[in-house]
Amino acid sequence: MASETPHGGGRTERCERCCEETPHAVTVELRVESEPDGDPPFARRPYRVSSCRECGTESVHAIEEP
Ligand SMILES: [Zn+2]
Repeated sequence: MASETPHGGGRTERCERCCEETPHAVTVELRVESEPDGDPPFARRPYRVSSCRECGTESVHAIEEP
């Protein structure tokens, strides 16, 4: 029985520190954006957080909403 999802819930992405594709744990978090950049101080924006399982480096990207 073949499985196409190794590591259950993780995924493989390129890590800048490892300079290769490694298993990553990917989660989505709601974080408060408090920068006086025109956004309301309490606006919560979803961020996609992927952490390398090899070296622990986290990559955080804001998820653009329409
Ligand atoms: Zn890494």
